[in-house]
Amino acid sequence: MRIDLHTHSSVSDGTDSPAELLSTAAAAGLDVVALTDHDTTAGWGPAAEARPAGLTVVPGMELSCRWFPDDQPPISVHLLGYLFDPLHAAFVAERARLREERLSRGERIVVALAADGHPVAWEAILERSAGGVVGRPHIARALVEAGVVSSVDDAFATLLHHRSPYYVAKADTDVREGIGLVRAAGGVPVFAHGMARSRGRVVGDGAIAAMVDAGLLGLEVDHPDHTAEERDHLRNLAAVHGLLTTGSSDYHGTNKRTPIGACTTDPGQYEALIAAATGSTLLSD
Ligand SMILES: [Zn+2]
Ligand SMILES: [Zn+2]
Repeated sequence: MRIDLHTHSSVSDGTDSPAELLSTAAAAGLDVVALTDHDTTAGWGPAAEARPAGLTVVPGMELSCRWFPDDQPPISVHLLGYLFDPLHAAFVAERARLREERLSRGERIVVALAADGHPVAWEAILERSAGGVVGRPHIARALVEAGVVSSVDDAFATLLHHRSPYYVAKADTDVREGIGLVRAAGGVPVFAHGMARSRGRVVGDGAIAAMVDAGLLGLEVDHPDHTAEERDHLRNLAAVHGLLTTGSSDYHGTNKRTPIGACTTDPGQYEALIAAATGSTLLSD
């Protein structure tokens, strides 16, 4: 059984529609794929309608969170939530707040770029986001099309970098609160790419222990941005805390080079994950 538990469609910052993503997953020989768009469940309905026979879809989401260390600035962390109740009121309210934050953040970045003479317009980017979440990848593509930068990577390395004067910080959920919301909604919270140093500052083992105290149930271990040493460390930590371990591609369509199914989840770990969920059901035959 081949299981990929972390992918993004065009509902957030991927390039495939949910239907295209599922046919890509089936063509790649996957048996199970989780749809985990950022801060929204808007892809769940289209995924249920478009699911190819034989493919199991795990409804999920990747929540934008923060860890607040005692002695340093906050660290951005991502929390995967699986099979939670999408209508749980407190969780719905928090997702709405995050989407609003992200919209206004994108707008502030674009308005500042335009004010300095860069040929980008907020309305044009918003129109092309198809009503989903507007993230920095959307702005990056607009900058590429306007000829300001040569590629999406180039945009992230320069104008959209967190040290760029155009950077606007996010007001994300405290990760312990995020874990509590996923659990309250009957879902399974898994800490995403927790040691991927290439993505920025990472939290230490103490933070992960605190997340376990808050109700964390799993660690994403086999992720394209983790080195072999980082995977070993996380696997040991999972054993110490009695956590599930998962693997995924973090597929984003053509926005990133990683193919779907690049890393996968052990079937036994997958079975334990779905057994721990009570909030919603798998989409399957
Ligand atoms: Zn992530
Ligand atoms: Zn992701």
